[in-house]
Amino acid sequence: PSVVNKIAAGEIIISPVNALKEMMENSIDASSTTIDILVKEGGIKLLQISDNGSGINKEDLPILCERFTTSKLSKFEDLNEINTYGFRGEALASISHIAKVTVTTKTSDDKCAWKVSFAQGKMIDTPQPIAGTNGTTILVEDLFHNMPSRLRSLRSANEEYNKILDVVGRYAIHSSQIGFSCKKFGDSQFSLSIRATLNTKDRIRAVYNSTIATNLIDFELDKKEGLPLDKLTGYISNMNYVSKKAISPIFFINNRLVTCDPLRRILNQTYLNFLPKGNKPFIYLSLMIEPTSVDVNVHPTKREVRFLNQDEIIEQVSFKVNEELSKVDT
Ligand code: ADP
Ligand code: MG
Repeated sequence: PSVVNKIAAGEIIISPVNALKEMMENSIDASSTTIDILVKEGGIKLLQISDNGSGINKEDLPILCERFTTSKLSKFEDLNEINTYGFRGEALASISHIAKVTVTTKTSDDKCAWKVSFAQGKMIDTPQPIAGTNGTTILVEDLFHNMPSRLRSLRSANEEYNKILDVVGRYAIHSSQIGFSCKKFGDSQFSLSIRATLNTKDRIRAVYNSTIATNLIDFELDKKEGLPLDKLTGYISNMNYVSKKAISPIFFINNRLVTCDPLRRILNQTYLNFLPKGNKPFIYLSLMIEPTSVDVNVHPTKREVRFLNQDEIIEQVSFKVNEELSKVDT
């Protein structure tokens, strides 16, 4: 069974950035307003995420890393109304089968923090009381130590770190009420540091570069009777930015970072009305749609989203983007 668990875990967590994304989403679900990330050797040696969120009740710690334990689903119908990122209760369990996990957590009801380590999904000692502030720190060490083939298939520590930084940056742009920081272990300098009070444009400036943010068009679209979008928020550029490689469009659907190839392709087409072929605009779009129309059962490693009324939604988005670009291009 431990082999089965390990293989299943390795299919959910395929690289350090997957583990990081799951933990970051947990911190967001816990209503954190600061999230600090520390990375050693691309996240393989060490990946630590600290938040100031709700914390975890001491009684819940023993089963924290068991599969299908989640505090986010109370009744079956909830499956159709998932507003939080996680619901499967599989992320921490998976990580604990392929790494050493140490959790330090304190709720506002606790007098002190509790620290406990996990391996193979099980608590390996009883929680120890220690000093600490409200929130949760999860330390993941030696990821894939028991999966040598997976370790070999990873990219260099630098490349894995850049993937982590990319995802943190995207969440930092989208989660406009939350402060984020990310740095390499042992470095005095932060790779990314965003105060909770920073507005979206300044976040984009901080994550990418100022030339992107000088020419940003921001817009909002509210629900219109008979049309599928509940809300659309966007920050898009009407020019190419100066950068060696294109930043792939940032799409959030119902607050989840996703990729959506059909939407990306249509926007490419739309931009041809304004920019020459091979253009590299900056695009960040946040779509809110009826939760029941998003397919939440997509495999956790697959960021490609599926939803009902896809064509209609994509058309509504590209129409709005076209309209916004036309306004400034006269
Ligand atoms: P899921 O997010 O699908 O519930 P996870 O395995 O990601 O499953 O997390 C399991 C549970 O651990 C969560 O439901 C939550 O109760 C708790 N948890 C994990 N990380 C945090 C955190 N940073 N703050 C508070 N609770 C957390
Ligand atoms: Mg989760």
